[in-house]
Amino acid sequence: MDTTAPASRRATRPQAAPKVGFVSLGCPKALVDSERIITRLRAEGYELSADYQGADVVVVNTCGFLDSAKQESLDAIGEALAENGRVIVTGCMGVDEAHIRAEHPDVLAVTGPHQYEQVVSEIHNVVPPAHDPFQDLIPPQGIRLTPRHYAYLKISEGCNNACSFCIIPSMRGRLASRPAADVMREAERLVEAGVRELLVISQDTSAYGVDLKYAVSAWNGREIAARFYDLTEALGHLGVWVRLHYVYPYPHVDDVIPLMAEGRVLPYLDVPFQHASPNVLKAMRRPAHQEKTLERVRKWKEICPDLAIRSSFIVGFPGETEEDFNLLLDWLQEARFTRVGCFKYEDVAGAASNALPNHVPEDVKQERFARLMETQAKVSADLLSSRVDQTIEVLVDEVDEEGAIARSAWDAPEIDGCVFLNGQTNLELGDMLTVRVEHADEYDLWATPVEASS
Ligand code: SF4
Repeated sequence: MDTTAPASRRATRPQAAPKVGFVSLGCPKALVDSERIITRLRAEGYELSADYQGADVVVVNTCGFLDSAKQESLDAIGEALAENGRVIVTGCMGVDEAHIRAEHPDVLAVTGPHQYEQVVSEIHNVVPPAHDPFQDLIPPQGIRLTPRHYAYLKISEGCNNACSFCIIPSMRGRLASRPAADVMREAERLVEAGVRELLVISQDTSAYGVDLKYAVSAWNGREIAARFYDLTEALGHLGVWVRLHYVYPYPHVDDVIPLMAEGRVLPYLDVPFQHASPNVLKAMRRPAHQEKTLERVRKWKEICPDLAIRSSFIVGFPGETEEDFNLLLDWLQEARFTRVGCFKYEDVAGAASNALPNHVPEDVKQERFARLMETQAKVSADLLSSRVDQTIEVLVDEVDEEGAIARSAWDAPEIDGCVFLNGQTNLELGDMLTVRVEHADEYDLWATPVEASS
């Protein structure tokens, strides 16, 4: 070290940037939280470390939705402690600090979901920022963990519902929507940065703006209301794919279906129905469970025949009888959803459903799970086979030495199917092109390019 250097020279010499390791678990909403924390850290001059050894401190963003997710979070904290030793925990599981400390007493700090300020302040305590005012370290669109061509757009936090199996409202609080102009500005920045698909997320997307009483805010010289339809319509003008997740079938959702039919937003709705039996839905305390959903779905498809509906279901919910389950299977065959996810019910510490009578034995849950997946596989194979010989537009997600993996408008990243473009090694991530479908199975399509549109 040069101990003879004048004080003024020592003061301006750039320090090595402190490095933070980041482990992000859980749902897309948790991923958005991670992005916000990282954006803030990068703005302060921190760098991200790709491995535990190179990090001055490791942040683990946990998931606490199911007990299995909590265990995964505890395992991730244990691994980070073993490999690095300086660990800060945040995210949904952070509300249960006692549980974390019982297993990992050496974690440096524990903060809860979307406590960005606290996480950053804990990081400051462990490793202060190396401030360099002459460097602009942050691109205007922030730092994202998703690939460059798609991004999650979080429009609200929290939830006003009280589903009996869910502890999210107690962890994340009541619905708190972002002003519409804020959402639109973020969406515009993402599009300017090269994003070609925006995935709109929240806990309850169709309830957007209720808490703000649909307040208007100024965007691009006009006023825009914080209302589900108005926001969807405005996003539909940005010239990129817009995909709506976590939409409950409230009557006003009908209004956005014509936007899908006109090609303004993707003909895709992620509606977490969870069940079809009125008894189970009542026990689950699901929002909109009294709506005539099959009738509504039929009406949506009349307006937009190409509409893909993805949904998730819980089998083996306490009190679910064989009759309830058979009703669900019949309902699924009639509804013919494009994509279906299924979970076996699990007790979650703090959830009201734990106390319900008539818990379903594990072997029955497993058997119902298998039957539901088998039923849906037939529906899905049938729907996908109707795509063979069609010409469709796809977005490329991955390219390797065997070809490209793309997605259609009916498939969300990570959770739905793919369109395989074998041998197409010259494509790039984010390319959009027109392809002809040649083959289909229960989940995926295989296709060849017709013409490149980008
Ligand atoms: S709608 Fe129900 S399941 Fe979804 S976050 Fe709210 S309470 Fe939980």
